[in-house]
Amino acid sequence: MGIQSFLVTASLNAILAQRLIRKLCDHCKEAYTPSPALLKEIGYKLRPDIQFYKAVGCEKCLNIGYSGQTGIFELFTPSEALNEMIMSKESRKAILEAAMNAGFTPLKKDGIIKAASGITSVEEVLNAI
Ligand SMILES: [Zn+2]
Repeated sequence: MGIQSFLVTASLNAILAQRLIRKLCDHCKEAYTPSPALLKEIGYKLRPDIQFYKAVGCEKCLNIGYSGQTGIFELFTPSEALNEMIMSKESRKAILEAAMNAGFTPLKKDGIIKAASGITSVEEVLNAI
């Protein structure tokens, strides 16, 4: 954005990103084993026995398959080491990898965790990010 990197690191405490997603209806959601193509689209290494849930539709959810909403979030709080990487103008990919190694959970990963928990569907997460 043309901003000097020292100005970014001096004034940046945290970055929060969030998306609103629909929750699956607890009365009709169905578990399924994801296809290899879906796992490839997700892009994370997941447990081989992972299950996701899909929207079905029933009287309780007016045949929509979803009922209510929740959020998926990511909170980036740069450590001193990450600030040094920003100052050194390292690549976005390198900074992201370092942040993830330090415990940062990206928006997509938070959504996939919620999809694996049956809170929402993978499709809802992928459409939101
Ligand atoms: Zn339902």
